[in-house]
Amino acid sequence: MPKVRPDLALFGAYHSPQVQVEVRLNTNESPFSPAADFTEELFRSLSSADLNRYPDRMAKELRKSLAELHSVAPEQIFIGNGSNEVISTLFLAYGGPGRKAMTFEPTYAMYSQIARITSTEVIEVERDREFALGLDEVVSVQEATRPEVVFFCSPNNPTGLDEDPEIISAVAQDENTLVVIDEAYGQFASFSALKLAQNRSNIVVSKTFSKVWSLAGLRLGYLIGPEDIVANLWDVCLPYHIDTIKQLAGRLSLERVNDMEGTLDRILAGRDEIEGALKRLDLKYWPSSANFILFRGPDGLGDRLWQALVDRSVLVRNCSGWPRLKDCLRVTVGTEEENARFITALSESLAELRS
Ligand SMILES: *Cc1c(COP(=O)(O)O)cnc(C)c1O
Repeated sequence: MPKVRPDLALFGAYHSPQVQVEVRLNTNESPFSPAADFTEELFRSLSSADLNRYPDRMAKELRKSLAELHSVAPEQIFIGNGSNEVISTLFLAYGGPGRKAMTFEPTYAMYSQIARITSTEVIEVERDREFALGLDEVVSVQEATRPEVVFFCSPNNPTGLDEDPEIISAVAQDENTLVVIDEAYGQFASFSALKLAQNRSNIVVSKTFSKVWSLAGLRLGYLIGPEDIVANLWDVCLPYHIDTIKQLAGRLSLERVNDMEGTLDRILAGRDEIEGALKRLDLKYWPSSANFILFRGPDGLGDRLWQALVDRSVLVRNCSGWPRLKDCLRVTVGTEEENARFITALSESLAELRS
């Protein structure tokens, strides 16, 4: 038996620890199921789908619907099994040995994870203590290292903050750099890089159905960008990678933008509620543009706060042991009841730890 590639054996796979609890607010999905009539219509349309045949390889109809949603051409849309697959396809086409990708830490771990799998060198730029970027530093690192691909995440996971459009534009000035903006949480934010991307040959924006569209289980994500870049992504992905069921479900979902907007409103209201509670409880938090909020527990007590919440059957993401995120926890906005449970558990846990 050959051993696994030694550069892969160095790190464990990405995973989010799961604990049996009543309230799960740790993985940033929508807390709401898709509407019942969506599921019924999906079942109905499945009964007439030719599942013995390969799917439409280029997902023409789904691309058309997505193109209409964003007022772009269908040729500007690439589709993946989740935006994680979009990211990995970007690495297959533009990364690899001898190439570099730049990330801004802390950020979504998948960029550097897939970089390593594809033997792409990672250039990490540090955010400051408030998780902001400095334009001069970013541009000078870019000039010194000449990365082929730069990953912005807006709003950024796990901080919840928007990226600065000025910095994105500055990085995109170099036409030898492919600038990716991951907008997995874009609907929750007031800023989208799509406008910046419009007239540029080197900016792409990725989006997903996993968050506000309530379809994380479906695995559907996509990218909007210039036609030549999109064509390259379709060239390197596996044939027939987007199955028939997903193509149908994606199209049906796009006919229900109102459902998505209803979910968005409820989550935004929940975010206000939680931020208000964090303020009342005198905890440091970063005002969020996403469906989750990063906050810092009392000094040195991040792990204990996380455990105290688990003891009350509330699971949030424990980031307190991650580099740069000492004592920090990340809570996903849930249903109204879940948010109330979280707030009560948090206030009890703090009282316990502070006494
Ligand atoms: C959740 C998330 C995604 C979505 O991944 P999918 O593969 O579409 O489920 C992408 N990027 C970031 C930053 C995320 O947090």
